[in-house]
Amino acid sequence: MIKEEELRAYLSESGALLDGHFLLSSGLHSPNYVQCAQALKNPFWAGEMGAALAAMWHDAEPEVVLSPAMGGLIIGHEAARALGVNFLFTERENNEMVLRRGFALKPGQQVIIVEDVFTTGKSTLETAEVVKSYGAEVIGAMSVINRMGDKTLPFPAVSLVKMDLTTYKPEDCPLCRSGLPVVKPGSRKIK
Ligand code: ZN
Repeated sequence: MIKEEELRAYLSESGALLDGHFLLSSGLHSPNYVQCAQALKNPFWAGEMGAALAAMWHDAEPEVVLSPAMGGLIIGHEAARALGVNFLFTERENNEMVLRRGFALKPGQQVIIVEDVFTTGKSTLETAEVVKSYGAEVIGAMSVINRMGDKTLPFPAVSLVKMDLTTYKPEDCPLCRSGLPVVKPGSRKIK
């Protein structure tokens, strides 16, 4: 099983941890950004991370893994493989998180939500709402990276790595003052 220091080294060398000047979805600026897809592009490591998450889970036994697309697809699939259960995913339709493609949950079904990164917790909570709408039960959530800071989720949650990232309000950002262009991750430069 992978150790945390090995995983941290891999996250850096895979390009999942970026240095620069980033605009976060919260509106804050940061000198760091996590692009978990860069770590999950390697199937061996994706499998190792899924197995490590499954091994960390000691709460109620999940009957199905549910992940929000796109970020949760690969790690959710690998965690489901390790847990020996099916993998379903939610996606957005008219900006609302839903199950499509004939996917459904059964009333009372024990569901674990798996994500790449816990950031604000918003997508996890939206996914939990989908679970409840079917009368199924969220037994917990897992992620590769937790960068929620002091925030917690309203159910048991585990992550492989916790990261505390530096953030600045745009008006207090030393990177803005230094003239470094701010980048919205995953897209082109916006300034
Ligand atoms: Zn800035």
